Amino acid sequence: MKERPPFPVRLDFSAGKPTDRRSVPRFAGQAQSPGARPSGHPLSQGVGMDSSAVRMNMVRKLVQQGVSDPMVLAAMQAIERHRFVDTALVNQAYEDTSLPIGLGQTISKPGVVARMLELLRNGAPGKLGRVLEIGTGCGYQAAVLSRLASEVYSIERLRGLHDKARHNLRHLALANLHLLFGDGMVGYVKGAPYAAIIAAAGGEAVPQAWIDQLAMGGRLVAPVSAGAGAPGRQALVVIDRTPQGLRQMMLEAVHFVPLKSGIA
Ligand code: SAH
Repeated sequence: MKERPPFPVRLDFSAGKPTDRRSVPRFAGQAQSPGARPSGHPLSQGVGMDSSAVRMNMVRKLVQQGVSDPMVLAAMQAIERHRFVDTALVNQAYEDTSLPIGLGQTISKPGVVARMLELLRNGAPGKLGRVLEIGTGCGYQAAVLSRLASEVYSIERLRGLHDKARHNLRHLALANLHLLFGDGMVGYVKGAPYAAIIAAAGGEAVPQAWIDQLAMGGRLVAPVSAGAGAPGRQALVVIDRTPQGLRQMMLEAVHFVPLKSGIA
């Protein structure tokens, strides 16, 4: 596995030549690629700016987008997203954009991670109990979740990403985060029942196993296919297990990678 550059990449514009070649396309060039940050972004001014300040700016934007849960905001401030993306993407780590993480998968944009975690917590006064995450990917959301729950079980079906997450998470040594390699469609019965279940991949429907493994009073948040009339379209679904039965809410449109069965 390649070494990540330190963050932030330090630049020396005075000589007209950046000191770190990795940053050339994103920081030094006048002509920027589509999706490049607008001028005025703290990183574009920011020689010597530390990643905590850049994350604070990200969190401020989350608040502007309507995220208000203080535990979610604190967790997003604490976890260093730039450590979870590949070297070439480090400088985009705090933009509100999804990024490729290999094997055709993507890390969700911070706005979507925060929105889903806020829904998942549903204003709980303290930490959640046991939480199941389907789709570990690079491990970023799992790390954020580990600050919001007593135990996190996170399943990934692609061996390459499971290994990558393990590598990415090593520096944090999170004792309450359990990374599992397997098919998350069947949930993880050994950790059940769960106070909360969150999926980072969307299928045609929510698998029955997830519903079965949801504790009374528990909440599930997942992307699902918006229906036969809307191929390729997904929406966020929230399912609560209440004493009166299951309660379901369909929320805004989202765009997640597909939920697939089996391992690879
Ligand atoms: N939360 C992740 C996002 C990863 S993208 C992050 O922070 O990086 C969604 C992930 O779900 C992909 O890695 C994909 O391989 C995985 N996935 C899809 N179907 C799955 C399944 N049935 N079980 C486990 N993981 C699955």
